[in-house]
Amino acid sequence: MVENVVFFDDNEGTTDAVLTHQTLIDTQEKLGALLDLMPTGLIIHQMQGVLFANQQALHLFEKDHLAMVGKHILDYAPDDAREKWSEMFMSTFMRDEPVRFPELTLKRSDGSLSHIQVSAGRLPWEGTSVIQIMLEDVTELKQQAKELEKLTFNDVLTGAFNRRYFIQHASESVAYALDEAKPFSLLIFDVDWFKKVNDTYGHQAGDEALKTISAVWQRNTRQNEFDNRKNDSTLARIGGEEFAIYLPNVDQDGATAIAERIRSAIAENTVIFKDLRFKITASFGATSLKHGDESLDDLIRRADLALYKAKENGRNRVEFE
Ligand code: GH3
Ligand code: MG
Ligand code: MG
Repeated sequence: MVENVVFFDDNEGTTDAVLTHQTLIDTQEKLGALLDLMPTGLIIHQMQGVLFANQQALHLFEKDHLAMVGKHILDYAPDDAREKWSEMFMSTFMRDEPVRFPELTLKRSDGSLSHIQVSAGRLPWEGTSVIQIMLEDVTELKQQAKELEKLTFNDVLTGAFNRRYFIQHASESVAYALDEAKPFSLLIFDVDWFKKVNDTYGHQAGDEALKTISAVWQRNTRQNEFDNRKNDSTLARIGGEEFAIYLPNVDQDGATAIAERIRSAIAENTVIFKDLRFKITASFGATSLKHGDESLDDLIRRADLALYKAKENGRNRVEFE
């Protein structure tokens, strides 16, 4: 009787243990399945190597499970940042707060690049130290941001940058030139008698004329011979038929020569719209950074003044202030 009770108890204990064990396996399987469903790449990592990688992590690295487990995340660190990665990897084991790694760029088998945001944090596991590494694919997000930036900073008609871009980037460029005591020049130009162009050939032909300005600038700005840097010249449409070109590292002589080159190229170019053929000209105001200047505003003021003079003095010409 007593034996029976003991036997009965024991039996229940064994069933419990089996159940617990099964629950654990179930939980592990369920957890694995759960982690596999996550859109975020997850790697469980020991000091020595990868313990577990979910489906998304395997997908990001284009690896199967066997090829990944036992590998080390540092095998995937960019060559030029291996030391930094190693340092950050080690620090993840020591710290309580999560660590954000530098962005990882992976070359996919189809040749495209994917950009991965990597962060890692220590897991409160007993025994061996373990960290989790989270991988977020931000490639699409970056692409969208780029497109949004294009919409924000580009002029749809001409493809040139817009006024907002000009103010922001030329300002930064001027601040840099001031700091480094480097030359900087600005051209502002305005199409001559543009109202008449519209009245004579129609608004659409006028639009086409504005587009050709961008094309003419591009054809004439392959190489900046004054600095030997490629395309160190930026065109922006800052008003209806008013444009700016800013030229980092270009001094007064350079700016005048570039303005003269673009001016004559615009005058020589024929605008073609349907069966219309006509020519336009533009007047240029040029200026360069000089002692006492504090910001882009100083340059805009002088370039505007020079442009006004170019109009006054007969148009289709360059004046320097
Ligand atoms: P000026 O030589 O003194 O610059 O004479 P202008 O006729 O060019 O100057 P004004 O400022 O009187 O006229 C500018 C014209 O530019 C008026 C406007 O209709 C035209 N314009 C502005 N933006 C656009 C545009 O996007 N497309 C077209 N087709 N015309 C535009
Ligand atoms: Mg104007
Ligand atoms: Mg005009």
